[in-house]
Amino acid sequence: MKKRYLLAPGPTPVPEKVLLTMAQPMFHHRTPQYSKLLSEVEEKLKHVFQTRNNIFILVSSGTGAMESAITNFFSPGDKVICVRGGKFGERWGELCKVYNLNTVFIDIEWGTAVKPEAIEEALKEHPDAKAVLTTHSETSTGVVTDLESIGKIVARTPAILITDAVSSLGALNLETDNWNVDIVVAGSQKGLMIPSGLAFISVSEKAWKMVETAKLPKYYFDLRKYYKSLQKWQDPFTGGVNLLVGLKETLQMIEEEGLQNVFERHRKLAEACRSGVQAIGLELFAKQPSNVVTAVKVPEGIDGTAITKKVRDEYGITIAGGQAQLKGKIFRIAHMGYSDRFDMILAISAIEMVLTELGYNVPLGKGVAACEEYFLKNW
Ligand SMILES: *Cc1c(COP(=O)(O)O)cnc(C)c1O
Repeated sequence: MKKRYLLAPGPTPVPEKVLLTMAQPMFHHRTPQYSKLLSEVEEKLKHVFQTRNNIFILVSSGTGAMESAITNFFSPGDKVICVRGGKFGERWGELCKVYNLNTVFIDIEWGTAVKPEAIEEALKEHPDAKAVLTTHSETSTGVVTDLESIGKIVARTPAILITDAVSSLGALNLETDNWNVDIVVAGSQKGLMIPSGLAFISVSEKAWKMVETAKLPKYYFDLRKYYKSLQKWQDPFTGGVNLLVGLKETLQMIEEEGLQNVFERHRKLAEACRSGVQAIGLELFAKQPSNVVTAVKVPEGIDGTAITKKVRDEYGITIAGGQAQLKGKIFRIAHMGYSDRFDMILAISAIEMVLTELGYNVPLGKGVAACEEYFLKNW
């Protein structure tokens, strides 16, 4: 027997009571029951998105909403500015390429955040740019982006600001309206604490004006269909019925805890995690670390893929390794969504034990002690 723990940056654990709520007989999506559920979920989502904009719910993983953020707003050859500093920034870039956009890249070193001034400069140099594409929390590097400052800059131009908030929504403060973020893309399996399968996209009025002239092809992700259906509290296609049932429950949990308290909990878990790994002599990878996932440099001479594999197969804890050029060079501990103090303590404990097994000299218990001290002082 092995008890399993999920501490990867998505999918994240689903609270027990939410699992039970979702274990209900399927009901039909063209019913008053479904419309009521959809309207309740929409209202609660707006609270978490901190917006009055329309939010469309798609049955797909987060990337589907990213694709819809391209196809609904642009025409082939349109100029956009795309920030690339990790795997998910690269995904924006790949989408722009597939759809033949004229893409100006701001490439930043992995592990660092884009400087708002770099965006200001790019917009000055390219006044015809129609959008700036960003990643709020770059999950592959554990970096958070200063969207508030970027929002102020982009709002003064005709361009719209698009952000991938798949790993940050419901975990990091994201003031969609106050910060002028025109399009926010999110997913169900991270901060929102339900299984994968739903994606979300909020659209400002400034961005919605671009929909009518956008010529890129789309069918399933045509947001005009979603808009029309939403007026009648319906989905254009079969909605994610049971996922929506679960989502209503997790949004309720977020409301009860209080949005600001949810952000504070993530901050404290992140700080404890960072102090734990640093106490055993490891270094953080991110220069501007995000509060949803901690990326840690693998010490010299140790095989990083062996750490994540051993932690999972022998200790039952799923954390994440590095992606692309970071494979084997970092490991990532998530503190996202349904996550609490002892998740951090057990993750740090497992890292101490596995590093010891791999022959790295770790002071056993020192990272755990740092976590405990942090929580005693700050929780
Ligand atoms: C998880 C994630 C995604 C979406 O991935 P899907 O597998 O399509 O849900 C996109 N962006 C970021 C930053 C993510 O963390």
